[in-house]
Amino acid sequence: MTFDVIIAGAGPAGSSAAIHLARKGVRVLLVEQKKFPRPKLCGEFISPECQRHFQNLGVVQAMTAAGPTALVETVFYSSRGHHVTIPSSWFGGPAALGLSRAVMDEVLLRRAQECGVTILEGASVSEPIREQNDVLGVRVREQEYRAPLTIDATGRARILTRKLNDDARGSRAKLIAFKVHLRNTRVAPHACEIYFYPEGYGGLSTIEGEVSNLCFIISAEQVKRHHSDPEIVMRELVMKNQRAAYTLAHAQPASEWLSASWERFGRQRPSPTRGLLAIGDSAAFIDPFTGSGMLMAFESGELAAHVILRHRDTPAITAVGAEYEAEYVRKFDSRLRISGLLRRAAFKPRLAGLGIAICSASERFRNRIVRATRSPGLSFKL
Ligand SMILES: Cc1cc2nc3c(=O)[nH]c(=O)nc-3n(C[C@H](O)[C@H](O)[C@H](O)COP(=O)(O)OP(=O)(O)OC[C@H]3O[C@@H](n4cnc5c(N)ncnc54)[C@H](O)[C@@H]3O)c2cc1C
Repeated sequence: MTFDVIIAGAGPAGSSAAIHLARKGVRVLLVEQKKFPRPKLCGEFISPECQRHFQNLGVVQAMTAAGPTALVETVFYSSRGHHVTIPSSWFGGPAALGLSRAVMDEVLLRRAQECGVTILEGASVSEPIREQNDVLGVRVREQEYRAPLTIDATGRARILTRKLNDDARGSRAKLIAFKVHLRNTRVAPHACEIYFYPEGYGGLSTIEGEVSNLCFIISAEQVKRHHSDPEIVMRELVMKNQRAAYTLAHAQPASEWLSASWERFGRQRPSPTRGLLAIGDSAAFIDPFTGSGMLMAFESGELAAHVILRHRDTPAITAVGAEYEAEYVRKFDSRLRISGLLRRAAFKPRLAGLGIAICSASERFRNRIVRATRSPGLSFKL
């Protein structure tokens, strides 16, 4: 029951970090509460830069075999139907991919297994094992698993970090997201379409099997007012956007609705205490309209693995946490700040409309904003 590194959560952050480490001979335990494949609430827009990660992780063939849709552009629609287009090529890779999380996460988990990672599926981590300020592993049901380093990759749930701070479930949810797979939409076949409407926004694009994925965010207040029924919210609010009214007019559900709630965006501490690192959404949750949450999951998983490998022959756990935190801040803080600024417009249709008009006027400005939501070095002064 003793490992070099224990990772809680097998989303893109957890599985990719596990693959990087196991391939260098590190003994990794990966604990995942669900049995895979499983559906997951997400826009399922895999940003073009992720393909570099797929290559490094050795999963390009398996991803391609699943038949993803090539998404060559993202089109942002104001509620009145004005739009602005961002070509996928601006993200510095080929097309983005439309692929379900059920497939993508399953491919990554099986690859981790192939690389020698010990996997516990259908097993929920309940809390960290603590000794004073140190984390020494995790508890799964009655069982203890120990390692000098533990990684919280449980997504927005941040199970280990919350338990550490006795932070039960944070404050009341301010936002709710819904997702469903649909047939008979009229979304442009190779585009990811983003719709703004009062107090929220949503995305529609095609994934494998010619199915469309609709994923949208709305204030918890509005959901309550609409009887917490996603179908009613879609018809009454999302379809207030003229383009969404057209693309979703004849849509038929092809899956169950999924929902999730949360109270905040932004960064937490990447190394909350000695012996514990946080990666992916557990470290920071970036606004979904940037389409870069999975990219940040891969990037932070890779960064954590690099720092751990740099110190693998020394028992310098403190140095691992400090270095990871410093490098994390350097790499991600600028884009998190820019996304935070853009968020102010995303939930207000008039501001979103104005933003779309300004972006339509200047390709240079548009390109700079897009790159500022990704790159570490580009600070964008608004
Ligand atoms: C509405 C919405 C739309 C989005 N759309 C996009 C998009 O189109 N493109 C994009 O790139 N990003 C998108 N994102 C963001 C993206 O989904 C996340 O950034 C990404 O999933 C983060 O990966 P992760 O591995 O950190 O966490 P997750 O993918 O959340 O994985 C965490 C894993 O931990 C497991 N887990 C949780 N608790 C426990 C426990 N106690 N024990 C064991 N395992 C546990 C979960 O089952 C899960 O498998 C969207 C997010 C939202 C909310």
